[in-house]
Amino acid sequence: MHQRKGECSVVLSRAAFASRDQASPEDRLSMEQLRLTLRNIRTNIVVIPLLVAIICAIFARWVPRAQLVMWFSIAVTGTVVQAGVATLFFRADPPAAQIRKWLLLCTPAFLVFALSWASMGVFLWVDHNILDNALILLILGCTIAASAAVSSVSLPLGIVSFVTYGTAMVLLPLREGELNDGVAVMAMFYVTYMAFVARSIRKTTRDMLLLRDDKNELIDALARSKVESDAARMRAEAANRAKSEFLANMSHELRTPLNAILGFSEMIQGGMLATKPERAIEYARLIHGSGQHLLALINDILDLAKIEAGRFDLREEPLDLEDIIDENLQQLSAAAIAGGIRLARSVPSDLPLLYADQRAIKQILLNLLSNALKFTPPGGTVRIFADEDDGAIRFGVSDTGAGIADEDQDRVFENFGQGRHDVATAGKGTGLGLAIVKGLAHAHGGTITLESRVGVGTCVTITMPPARSLARNMIAAAS
Ligand code: ATP
Ligand code: MG
Repeated sequence: MHQRKGECSVVLSRAAFASRDQASPEDRLSMEQLRLTLRNIRTNIVVIPLLVAIICAIFARWVPRAQLVMWFSIAVTGTVVQAGVATLFFRADPPAAQIRKWLLLCTPAFLVFALSWASMGVFLWVDHNILDNALILLILGCTIAASAAVSSVSLPLGIVSFVTYGTAMVLLPLREGELNDGVAVMAMFYVTYMAFVARSIRKTTRDMLLLRDDKNELIDALARSKVESDAARMRAEAANRAKSEFLANMSHELRTPLNAILGFSEMIQGGMLATKPERAIEYARLIHGSGQHLLALINDILDLAKIEAGRFDLREEPLDLEDIIDENLQQLSAAAIAGGIRLARSVPSDLPLLYADQRAIKQILLNLLSNALKFTPPGGTVRIFADEDDGAIRFGVSDTGAGIADEDQDRVFENFGQGRHDVATAGKGTGLGLAIVKGLAHAHGGTITLESRVGVGTCVTITMPPARSLARNMIAAAS
């Protein structure tokens, strides 16, 4: 039972050793040494009073009862003080950073115990009684040997015990009695020798603790690298799944227009439409449309591949966002009129220039505008906006359209990620538009935010880093 308790405290202290390492390595080591010493004296509270009682019984033959009672009380009090501090320590299970505080508490407690124990030299010593004197020196000798093994693990506690017992052992033979100076010299040699033994025990324990610390650090490092490798494996698996999904989606998206191209061109080739030129024109128009769709799709996929591989070369230059916005509005105004949608713009005239890639910004706005037009019913409004916030240029598109359900709002940024309402939308896209917008915004160091409520509308905002804002007068002065 006792052994199991010991193991438990080793495990606990190991946790403390590993987790509370804000303290210096030397402090952590001292704390472990103190912990070991206090663990060693935990049984003192039972053993010492018993030992004191046995010694009193032996000395009762020649030492007056009053003195025996005095020493018994003093020694037991000293034991209680020492064991009390040890109990407090294990209850607090202090971190290594508190080592100084605990040494300040434990060192006096050990001194009190050592003095109370060594006071046998005062209360039990009987002049001219060789048996009494020899027995006391023998007990002190054994005590020194025991404290070399037990207390010396922690240097301050070891010093306190050694100095007290050693002084008592060397000075006692000098008292008036049957023993002489020779015994004092012998005691001095013995104390010195035991000090060396204690030193080597302390060194061995220190090495053992350092080894244990290294081992714990190794176990921690192993556990950390396992967590990291698990996470990396999961990321790789997710990437693999995403790649498979991407390929499956892509082949589907490519096959649909290709089938149309092949089907219609085979009909023309077979001369089936020789007598129906207007049908042939209609089919040629469909083939052209599918070809354009295919080209746009391949361009999107190439753009995405470049963005994801981090190889999208930005050709940066100062851009007037207002011009780009007007260009985009012109490009899509026919589609807006056809869909019965009002196109609006809000751009302050003093907006700084944006240092960015023109093609990328046009593509971002085009993708956002075409989404807004696609998902806004007739009578709705699509607004393209740009402004400046804390030195950062923000721009984007808002609409009063279908909105995106909360649970879809992350997915729409993924490759081929589409919201649920698409099923009911005519002119279905491929789901690459927002993924490209996000990739292009990130390539500029910008961020993208989406606010949307089903049935109310959607607003997508790109925020560029302030470093990309250029004051107009600065450019004018430079040119
Ligand atoms: P593509 O742009 O590749 O032709 P897409 O428009 O379907 O296809 P994204 O632009 O990536 O793909 O948009 C992903 C999905 O996000 C859309 O399918 C749609 O469900 C949702 N979405 C995007 N913009 C809006 C919007 N303004 N209003 C409502 N839903 C939107
Ligand atoms: Mg789109």
